[in-house]
Amino acid sequence: MRIDIATLFPEAFAPLGVGVIGRAVESGLLEVNIVNIRDYTLDKHGKCDDTPFGGGAGMVMTPQPIHDAISALDPDHEALRIYMSPKGRTLCQSMVKELAARDRLLFLCGSYEGIDERVLELDIDCEISIGDYVLTGGELPAMVTVNAVARYVKGVLGSEQSTNEESFSDGLLEYPQYTRPREFMGKEVPAVLLSGDHAKIAAWRRAKQIEITSQRRPDLAEGR
Ligand code: SAM
Repeated sequence: MRIDIATLFPEAFAPLGVGVIGRAVESGLLEVNIVNIRDYTLDKHGKCDDTPFGGGAGMVMTPQPIHDAISALDPDHEALRIYMSPKGRTLCQSMVKELAARDRLLFLCGSYEGIDERVLELDIDCEISIGDYVLTGGELPAMVTVNAVARYVKGVLGSEQSTNEESFSDGLLEYPQYTRPREFMGKEVPAVLLSGDHAKIAAWRRAKQIEITSQRRPDLAEGR
């Protein structure tokens, strides 16, 4: 999968170079291409923002450098172009899977008070939010989305079972996990997990999924 990212702060994406995602990039499973929007501005002082028409606090990102950056990255509009925005559809696991089925994604990260609406109308396919709160820029939201999507790209995780049996995969939260030692600070691992009886273990895990989801996320439980 190819991922393009347009941002005013390319250095903010250093975390994409480490861990599972870093290895996926290194091995070529993911191609991540980060461009600095400022490199595309025609303003002789390198400006990419200006005061909002109509007044108000802060600065707004100007359309020209963004339009030119996107046109250079994706001249034939092959990528799904996403603006990370608190006004977008809230990211969820089913959206993550839909995004992972694409060959190319392009993320536009806003800064300051946001982006001139006209470039969004001209160049953006959809807006995605990572939650009902406001961050200073779209870099963390883009990284959150890239991380969640990359887990569904074939080969990125060691085992595909990891995405089949985890929270949200079938609309429920995950069951509790245990590892060695069998007893820790007086707390024992549930006996069923040591029984070797796979049917019983599966039934216990399912029951725990339903119990935890009903307690913590009744909205999910009702949805099922
Ligand atoms: N003035 C905007 C508003 O009220 O909707 C908020 C702008 S915010 C300070 C700057 C940038 O951060 C946005 O353009 C967007 O790219 C990003 N951003 C902030 N919160 C976000 C969220 N919850 N999800 C996705 N992107 C977000």
